[in-house]
Amino acid sequence: MKESRNVESFALDHTKVRAPYVRLAGKKTGPNGDIVTKFDIRFCQPNEEFMTTGGIHTLEHLMAEYIRDEIDGVIDLSPMGCRTGFYFTVFGGRDEEYIAEKIRNVLVKVAAWPETEEVPGVDPVMCGNYRDHNLSDAKAWAAKWVEGIDNKGWQCF
Ligand SMILES: [Zn+2]
Repeated sequence: MKESRNVESFALDHTKVRAPYVRLAGKKTGPNGDIVTKFDIRFCQPNEEFMTTGGIHTLEHLMAEYIRDEIDGVIDLSPMGCRTGFYFTVFGGRDEEYIAEKIRNVLVKVAAWPETEEVPGVDPVMCGNYRDHNLSDAKAWAAKWVEGIDNKGWQCF
């Protein structure tokens, strides 16, 4: 097993975590004193399950739309290449419980998104792969995350 000196997530033992969860993945202070925190928002149990590309893509569009209503200072929400979750980066020193509560609010809305309503940003002008979306998968993963968090709490391990 080749270790990484540079990538935080390579130091995480993915066999020890229990999805779904919210995990503080990093906290940095910039030269002007601004604090930036990064969270691992995991939906799928690593190496056991993963989302379809259409499902995680639609989830990205809907979460990106709603998360900014819940939290000030959002920097970025990006899907992980392994398709098991998202990285969420925000200004300020936030804790996992706070982020889990806000993400839960977002995912409750996503799970209830009407099948007939258009997903924001799904067209060739606003999206880089607008044909690759799957609303029912996105809704199912949102519902599963909420159910899992409610059953076990936000903790990772
Ligand atoms: Zn897109």
